[in-house]
Amino acid sequence: MNKTINAGPVIWKKIDSFAGNTTSPVLTAWRPCPVCGAFECRTLLAYDDFQFYRDSVDLPTRAPVQQVQCLTCQAIFMNPGYSETGQRVLFAVAGGSYRSRPEHQTAQVTWLEQRGLAAPGQSLLDVGCYDGRFLNMLPAHVRKSGVDIDAAAIERGRATGLDLIAGAFEDFRLPAQPDVITMFHVLEHLADPYKTLRNLRQNSHAETRLVIEVPVIEKGFTNDLNGFFSVHHSTHFSFNSLKLIMKRAGWQILDGETMPYNGYRIVAKPGTDNLVDVKAGALADRVTALRYLQSYFQNLADVGEKIGKWPNTSRAVIWGAGAHTEVLYQTTEYFRQRRDREYIMVDSAVTESVMTWRGLHAYSPKAVLPGIDWSDCALVISSYGWQDAIEQDALRAGVPQSAIRKIYDRISTY
Ligand SMILES: [Zn+2]
Repeated sequence: MNKTINAGPVIWKKIDSFAGNTTSPVLTAWRPCPVCGAFECRTLLAYDDFQFYRDSVDLPTRAPVQQVQCLTCQAIFMNPGYSETGQRVLFAVAGGSYRSRPEHQTAQVTWLEQRGLAAPGQSLLDVGCYDGRFLNMLPAHVRKSGVDIDAAAIERGRATGLDLIAGAFEDFRLPAQPDVITMFHVLEHLADPYKTLRNLRQNSHAETRLVIEVPVIEKGFTNDLNGFFSVHHSTHFSFNSLKLIMKRAGWQILDGETMPYNGYRIVAKPGTDNLVDVKAGALADRVTALRYLQSYFQNLADVGEKIGKWPNTSRAVIWGAGAHTEVLYQTTEYFRQRRDREYIMVDSAVTESVMTWRGLHAYSPKAVLPGIDWSDCALVISSYGWQDAIEQDALRAGVPQSAIRKIYDRISTY
């Protein structure tokens, strides 16, 4: 690949002009239902050939992504899920952490303090602590510890004086049982959330409080093309399936609260190991899944109709070099509307000049936008949450309003 593209002329390419991408069976692994352990499931939605971020001739960066529903408890999950190799290879570009957004972490600290879950002398374990940035936001009087699989992040956190463990959530051991365990937006990423919940219980005393937050499908009816079934999530919880997995893992839910964004936060304590009726609530979850798909496909139809009316330009600039652009490729006909169309991508996060996706080169917007002739070229904003901010940036960079294509009529926070 050309290593000096940002310094030289802009290279326009057709879609799928990079031929070297491959897939591999080692990226994924079949699994039983992560919630109830049953073997049978049915397909809800699938991408046949999802390109995970950048093109590569060296590593397999394509994988099928399939969302299924358990025939016993109706939990929704990715199957096959990512193997450990898959997690490492496919998400290398996205970074090693799935921490919740920083703006949410301040509110999480306040929330814990208000409920007496960050009191003087209490010990708190953060599961999925990354480099300890959340722990470091908690008051100094809390005795803090953390665990994460990202060994490099753990090392950085230890350097700030924190007591952190590098280990798998399913089998780490603590020297002392914590009073509070937090796990914000981690459970939905795990290959075996049940095993992790069991292990947390084994590391707890009778009065330990476990605080968990996950997105739930009931709050995930969004018009974002990414939909609720994010490729980053291995389990797509509902109110019911979260309750079920907690009960089955021996946790008693004391309290539950929905957040202004899509987050359902619960507080639990160790409960009894009773047999659980895994079919309780299952029928309602089947209906919820169908209602969700109905709404999702309605959105795809609306976007498809809108895109079909866009002028059929011979060139296009795609603003956004992340997963949203792959989802745009998967769920709409834009890239197939005209096979001889040439593209580039722009993205504020582009620093390397060698990055391509499906053959398209990515540039910094500032470097290339001013030099583009917009007479037969569109600027497609490929982002949900940032759509309106990108439009403003594009106008400031001199892109005419008539060239700007917006996918969404409205954006909602979720
Ligand atoms: Zn199940």
